[in-house]
Amino acid sequence: MNGDANNFKQRFEECSDKFDKIFELTSAASKIINSDLVILKVNHAITELLGYEAAEIEGTKILEYACPEFIQHWHELQEALWKRQLPFFKLEACLYRKDGSVAWVKVTTVLFNDKGETFGFTVLDDITYRKQFDEKENELNVALAASERTKADLSRMLDTMAEGVGIIDLNGRMTYANPMAQKILGVSEDEIKKRTFGDSKWQNLRLDGSPLPPEEHPMAIMMRTRQQVFDHEIAVQPANGERIYVSINAAPIFDENGKLTGGLGTFMDVTHRRKIIQQKDEFISIASHELKTPLTSLKGALQLLDRVKQEVTPKMLPQLVDQANKSLNKINTLVADLLNASRVNEGQLQLNKTTFKLIDLISECCEHIYLDGKHQIISTGDVDLTVNADYDRIEQVITNFVNNVTKYAPETKVIEVRFERLSDAARISVIDQGKGIPKEKQPQLFDRYYRVNTDDKQYSGLGLGLYINAEIVKKHGGEIGVESTAGQGSAFWFTLPL
Ligand code: ADP
Repeated sequence: MNGDANNFKQRFEECSDKFDKIFELTSAASKIINSDLVILKVNHAITELLGYEAAEIEGTKILEYACPEFIQHWHELQEALWKRQLPFFKLEACLYRKDGSVAWVKVTTVLFNDKGETFGFTVLDDITYRKQFDEKENELNVALAASERTKADLSRMLDTMAEGVGIIDLNGRMTYANPMAQKILGVSEDEIKKRTFGDSKWQNLRLDGSPLPPEEHPMAIMMRTRQQVFDHEIAVQPANGERIYVSINAAPIFDENGKLTGGLGTFMDVTHRRKIIQQKDEFISIASHELKTPLTSLKGALQLLDRVKQEVTPKMLPQLVDQANKSLNKINTLVADLLNASRVNEGQLQLNKTTFKLIDLISECCEHIYLDGKHQIISTGDVDLTVNADYDRIEQVITNFVNNVTKYAPETKVIEVRFERLSDAARISVIDQGKGIPKEKQPQLFDRYYRVNTDDKQYSGLGLGLYINAEIVKKHGGEIGVESTAGQGSAFWFTLPL
């Protein structure tokens, strides 16, 4: 303890008992300092607050206990006070206790005069609890904001996900469905929530089309086994809509105690994938059927020829040769279609362009029609139209159109081939007077394997002709289409750039 302090003590003893008592007994930590900022006297509360003995504190300076970030500001306030620029100052700061922990205090310092000398009187209000509370509150707010952000991020993610997401409770009832789930199933979240297994509006089906028993639903399997389920495909049949196929992943949801509380399912619409598989299966069955018919007939003709080859049966001979030829031609056409289609698919369609008059194609392409005698072909319009294109390929396009007329519009007496000059293209149309094609079927006509009447076995074909035509025309940079009204015939057309 330095001399100053002793000096003060002497004088302080002269102070009234009252002040001493208050100073000692007040629960507010207080200290008295001199103009050098040295602590002269501390009360009991300050020793409690900082964990030092009074003797350890007296003679030191308060800034020795201050947290570094407050020292500068605190010091500036002290200076201003002692220079009489301030009547008093207040600040919140933290101090290190003897045990190294932190105490937060609200500091108030005033000056007072005693017998001509100036002293400072400081109260250190302990606000540690409030600070800790503030800090916790702050942490809580930060955590809350973060969780709100996570919630918002999650919700944005769920909103934009390309997969449907649904959550079910223990009773198998949907409690949540994201927008994609609503889109795939074609209903609002409210309607989804009302849905139950076995709801007739929403029949769940097995892939073979038979009803899916509720216990076979992937969500039910997952809830029963408490195991994840992956890529489990089922069909969903809405009351008045097209059947869709969905692939479902499902996982159980457990609470923090490991208790099952529900399940989460994600699903995507795999109707397209399923349709391609079905189309492939269908195509293989059509192709084998189509090839088998003329093969059987060819085989029959050859067997007969074999049996009668020794005998002289000139009457039968032409008929059998005819049958064999016809069958062979059919097989030829089918195999050519298959080859062309696969070539087109692999992008191997090479064009060998020359300049020619379109009308020249007609006599060549349609010779068999003239010979057959059932139909007549007339060319109309700009019959001098000349194009630069692959002669054989364009002949193939027109032949396909004309052959289709004989197959699908046989009642057509006169097949019109019309040539038109557009501003920058030649347009060629093959026009019949057949039954026409319903509007809703027209957009798919040029798709691979598409046939309007799949179950009509009367006409042979693989659904490839128009697809090949479209690919040839596209390769030339032209367009292809059909204008048709059911009952009034069709006009299949394509353009070639001029
Ligand atoms: P395919 O003849 O092998 O079935 P296409 O691609 O040539 O295949 O024709 C697709 C479908 O378009 C046919 O199955 C037929 O139903 C329809 N179609 C084509 N041309 C005509 C036409 N002129 N009139 C009516 N329907 C037609």
